[in-house]
Amino acid sequence: MRRVLLLIVIIVAVSVGVVCGLWRALTPPSPLEASATRFSLRNVTVIEPTVRRVSGATLSVRNGRIAMDHGGMEGAAQGYGDLAGTYVLPGLVDMHAHLPPRTPLRLSGYFLFLFLEHGVTSIRDVGDTDGTSVDTARGGIANGDFPGPRIFSCGPMVAGAEPIRWANTEIVETPADAEHVVAALADAGHTCVKSYEDLSLEKIVALKTAAAKHGLQMLGHVPTLLAYEDALIPDVQHFFGVPPPESLARDHVLDRAAEWTAVDEDRLAEIVAVTLEHDIINTPTLVSTHQLLLLRDYEAALDDPSAGILPRLYAEVAWNPSDGMPIWKGIDQYIDRIEDAFQKKRALTGRLFDAGARLHLGSDAQQPFVVPGLSIHQEMGHFVDAGIPLEEVWALATWKAAETLGEPYLGRLHPGAPADLLIFREDPTLDLAALDTLEAVVAQGKLYTRADLDRARAVYQEHFRSAVVDLISIPAARFTLRRTILRDY
Ligand SMILES: [Zn+2]
Repeated sequence: MRRVLLLIVIIVAVSVGVVCGLWRALTPPSPLEASATRFSLRNVTVIEPTVRRVSGATLSVRNGRIAMDHGGMEGAAQGYGDLAGTYVLPGLVDMHAHLPPRTPLRLSGYFLFLFLEHGVTSIRDVGDTDGTSVDTARGGIANGDFPGPRIFSCGPMVAGAEPIRWANTEIVETPADAEHVVAALADAGHTCVKSYEDLSLEKIVALKTAAAKHGLQMLGHVPTLLAYEDALIPDVQHFFGVPPPESLARDHVLDRAAEWTAVDEDRLAEIVAVTLEHDIINTPTLVSTHQLLLLRDYEAALDDPSAGILPRLYAEVAWNPSDGMPIWKGIDQYIDRIEDAFQKKRALTGRLFDAGARLHLGSDAQQPFVVPGLSIHQEMGHFVDAGIPLEEVWALATWKAAETLGEPYLGRLHPGAPADLLIFREDPTLDLAALDTLEAVVAQGKLYTRADLDRARAVYQEHFRSAVVDLISIPAARFTLRRTILRDY
């Protein structure tokens, strides 16, 4: 009897030990700490892209805000002599971001770090799989578990009918439902409405009315059955709806993203005209289309720099075209069409800019080989390749995006504005390669030096690319993937 009891005690103790050990091994580090919250940058060039440029300026930060432009805080604040001669710009905004859900891996802090590391100091989260992402990220920041960018959010996706793609979806059964669905989003503190699949025109109109009434932006997908000019979504994501609905072989995300053979010169001109007439904003997320081209050779893609940033479950499981996210199955048959679609989407981006239409830079992070932070730098490159002058791209990626987020003076660099700043050794409005000379990031008034960021990156990488994280997360990801995506088209 005593032996049996002893055996039970040993088994329980070992099990508890194993669980605790695994839990400890999975607990992410929290390595990023600010070097200063009250400081002055002297003899810097302050650049508000396309607005003004002041050289030899002193810019001070205290209480999370820019204090003044010219001196006045000598002795009162920490000076950063080695940042003299640098270029100070507003922080970047990712207008189409997706944060990770709450899982035992606890990826939120690392995602938020990757944004900050690349100078992204604000994100617009446009929906997650299960409704846990934004609360987990905001909660971690509020608890001091990790720092992060400002988070603006849309909450659940708003669809018109079953079947839903993600659990975190609200269905508007009739146009009359739009008002209470949008009111609930506003009550929950969201600042945008993500209109999603299978909405009728009547439901879209009702959602627009409700969004305007509650002061929320409305962005979203043009549903498969509607054309761009019919849906008139106020902020169109991914250029959905540009290919006429009748030109799509299937109601499938792949076709909607890649089937642009019917888009010719006339169609592009038509889209530009409708966009201007209705003051439509576009968030093209060119990077998410471009990165799909890596799937031309999946084995080679695993060596792409974007594959080595997130835990291996992304590149090796979720982005695996044969048994990963089911919507990308069979993508090898689409690569040439994706190439064609990408060229036309980039051309359309340039034409919209030339015509004076509004554009946002967004990444669609977590799509294949689209990683937080780096992807916004890539999106800036695609905008430049579209023929948009680099300083204009900076304006779009900073203060012009911030203008629609509702935070007063966000993205500006005058006294009283929120202190979200990027400090570069070389002027990145002259050459995008200067993004690599980022010396420090200031997010909500907290300064992180290059050394702070590099140290944190090394600690995070050691954790999230470790064998024990792989051992647990890769099989777990395989198991949960099919349960998370409820609709495979
Ligand atoms: Zn997205």
